[in-house]
Amino acid sequence: MAARSQPLLRRVWQQRELPVLDDRLCTGCERCVGVCPTECLALDGHRPWLPRPEHCVSCAACVVICPSAALALARLPSEA
Ligand code: SF4
Ligand code: SF4
Repeated sequence: MAARSQPLLRRVWQQRELPVLDDRLCTGCERCVGVCPTECLALDGHRPWLPRPEHCVSCAACVVICPSAALALARLPSEA
């Protein structure tokens, strides 16, 4: 990717919300992984993580289906 496009890409990412896991609440049921329409969630042991965040469309399907309220959408922290 061209270096000059990186600041724009960073700004776009800072506008997006991505799922964040509360590890204390997750039971490892895997429902969030199964419902993701872009298959960007995967399991690390029994915990979901986001190996392909660029594919996340912030649809919140994983948040809604989680029976433990272990997921929430949150914006990435801004860089100083
Ligand atoms: S917000 Fe939507 S696209 Fe993003 S990880 Fe969750 S289900 Fe997948
Ligand atoms: S749906 Fe919720 S409890 Fe189940 S694996 Fe995903 S985050 Fe954990």
